[in-house]
Amino acid sequence: MIALSISAETENVARIRVPEDHTFFLRLRCTTCHEETPNAVGVSRDDVVEGIRGASVNLKYKCKGCGREHDITVQPYDEKEAWTEGGKEWQRIAAFECRGMDPYEYEIRDGYLVEAADGSKFDDVDLSDDWMEVDGKGNPVSISNVKARLEGAKAEKKKK
Ligand SMILES: [Zn+2]
Repeated sequence: MIALSISAETENVARIRVPEDHTFFLRLRCTTCHEETPNAVGVSRDDVVEGIRGASVNLKYKCKGCGREHDITVQPYDEKEAWTEGGKEWQRIAAFECRGMDPYEYEIRDGYLVEAADGSKFDDVDLSDDWMEVDGKGNPVSISNVKARLEGAKAEKKKK
């Protein structure tokens, strides 16, 4: 399993997370022939297709290098998966089960849910660039320097 974590510099932000139907844009590398996808491929829990062994998956992808079919499933939604103020620098927002390929880069685009320190909520926030808004009390709410990291989730489980 591959976990997606983000880090960010924020002002008056309590939480950053993604909605259940978020589309994750991933660049993938085939584990057989090491061919990389030329563009990021979108994967969402809302897209359900039949996978290699007949199970339901969220994306089936045929490698252009070796012709093998691979698939990806976004792990079940958990509202607690979020970047939260006061937490660790890197916080997990989603995880993927990948067969036959490794995601090596995640593209930060739009669609994020942001909760300000005063409880104000913002939908469909674009975090690909610096973002700034004003909360219900007129205080600035901002997010900048968002970074994403993909890594094997097994190591994190061992720490518990
Ligand atoms: Zn391949």
